[in-house]
Amino acid sequence: MNKEVELLGRYLHILNEGRLLKNKDGFIIHASSSSVLIEDDRTLIVDTSVKDDCYNITKNLKDLGYMPEDIDIIINTHLHGDHRGCNNLFVNAEKYAHPLQIDDSSIKSVYFLNIKNVSILETPGHVPGHISVVFKNELGITIVIAGDAIPTRNNYYKWVPPRISYNPKEAIESMEKIVKIADVIIPGHDSMLVLK
Ligand SMILES: [Zn+2]
Repeated sequence: MNKEVELLGRYLHILNEGRLLKNKDGFIIHASSSSVLIEDDRTLIVDTSVKDDCYNITKNLKDLGYMPEDIDIIINTHLHGDHRGCNNLFVNAEKYAHPLQIDDSSIKSVYFLNIKNVSILETPGHVPGHISVVFKNELGITIVIAGDAIPTRNNYYKWVPPRISYNPKEAIESMEKIVKIADVIIPGHDSMLVLK
């Protein structure tokens, strides 16, 4: 295991690394990161990428000893297609997003979570009602699963809002909110970012 991954602690695992790639025709392929938190036998997944990644997500979950039907909760940072593609795999999970995002009855609204060490941070800007998930692990490290509030490492390094933002000013404020509390950020479409 590499040093960076060790910072995630025992309970948080990246099932799928987010990415933005150009295919041979020059189209950008969006595929979101997908992370699972397994604590006290409660299993929560944040974002489920695109359908092409369902196999990878399932495989990595199985390696951790879980099947898709074991997952209790799915949180979508927002409901763009590249963050929810494998939601249907998790047949027994309650699915949540911010009320401003909800577009179908299979998804419930979430403002806060009643799970130890896990909280929801409202991080609008890319879209209205975008949320990030904050987890303080057993090492005392605060990890923010940022979705498209910070889609790539470069958004952080260059301090620019997501290229697609309905409100760039709000997007920057959301980035500030995240950076203020995070030791580690899991971007929506990139590998993890260690700040401290
Ligand atoms: Zn998006």
